[in-house]
Parts: sequence; structure tokens; C-alpha cells
Amino acid sequence: MEIGVLALQGDVSEHRRAFADLGVQTRPVRTPGDLGAVDGIVLPGGESTTMSLLLASSELMEPLRKVLSSGLPAFGTCAGMILLAARITDGRPDQRCYGIIDLTVQRNGYGRQRRSFECDLDVLGTGGGPVHAVFIRAPLVVEAGPDVEVLASLLPSPDDEKRAPATGIPAMTAVPVLCRQGPVLVSAFHPELTGDRRLHQMFVSMIEDRER
Ligand code: GLN
Repeated sequence: MEIGVLALQGDVSEHRRAFADLGVQTRPVRTPGDLGAVDGIVLPGGESTTMSLLLASSELMEPLRKVLSSGLPAFGTCAGMILLAARITDGRPDQRCYGIIDLTVQRNGYGRQRRSFECDLDVLGTGGGPVHAVFIRAPLVVEAGPDVEVLASLLPSPDDEKRAPATGIPAMTAVPVLCRQGPVLVSAFHPELTGDRRLHQMFVSMIEDRER
């Protein structure tokens, strides 16, 4: 198995290290030719507006769209979640998204003054206790379609500084932060920044299940 990591911008090496810890090979994807042999692709965190522009200038935009629409397993984290979503609010007007998971996401939706926070999440189908999650100017899922499976959500509460209230949603309304739709997995947080490899393992298992 070889997993491609989109390497135009963002935390590419952290994702590659996570898969290396699991004994899985990765390849940086910078040109259309790099997409040829990969069994899955990661769209990392970074800046979705910049990535969208670089996808266009590197001529990767359409080849990547083609493999994604043919069902290549994809894992988008933070900015990568924005790129895979169906609808973006508060994006740049020229920003593009692939629309392969039925989510509406609001860029920087957790508010600017509390751009970053950490918390523990219970993740469906994952044993071994809660997953520690790092949110950095994270996208807020404002709508999830009926085919989206919510694997973890966050309960914003004004009483708990660690679970920063999202702007525009009432406190105590659960917000999806880890979602799956078929071969597509997305997280609003950065699983590559902790030593916990369970979500990378989840993606590897999705690829294995598909290949079986
Ligand atoms: N706010 C960034 C964006 O809009 C995402 C931040 C991140 O990936 N940590 O792309």
C-alpha cells in the first residue's frame, strides 16, 4: 500500500511520519504524475485558500478531482476537510472545493480570538479511550447531509474554556468534528500533531477494506 500526501502546502511531513509509524509507505503528491499509483490520498491542514490556488497552478486540480470522483479513499484534515466539502462559507470567492463529502463548512468557524484549542473526543468505533484533538483555526461543520456518518462531535459549552463555543451556533449543540462518507474521512482537527495514530490507522483500514 502507498498513500499519497498532497504536498503543495501544510503539514505534510507530520502525516508522513504518522503513516511511517504504522509501517505504511507514503509519497508526496506535487504533480499529476504522482497520483498514478496511490491507494489513498491525504489532504493535510494548512491554508485552504492557498492550497486551492496551488492546485490550480500545479495543474493538479482536475486530475485530483478525477481520482476523487472515481472513489479513491481520501482523508482531509482541517484545511483538507474544507477542500473535500461540498459547500464553504466565509471562503474566498475564487476558492474551490471538491464536494465529495456532503458537508457545509464555515472557514475559521470557531472564532478568531480562540483560534486554537484542544480537547478529548470520544470517537465511534475506536477503542482505547478518548482521542486528544488539536483544533487550529478549524472549520466548523454547519450542516451534514444524511449520508454523512458523524464519528465524533464536540459539545461547545460557554462554561468550558477547552471546548470553545463556536460562533453562530447555540451552546450545547453538538458539532460534528470527525465525519465519514464512503471512502472519504475528514476531521476538523489535526490528528497528525499528536502521537496517537488511531485515526491514521482508521484510514488505512478503510483502504484495506476497499481492496479486499
Ligand atoms: N483556517 C484554515 C483554512 O481556512 C485551516 C486551518 C488549518 O488547517 N489548521 O484553510
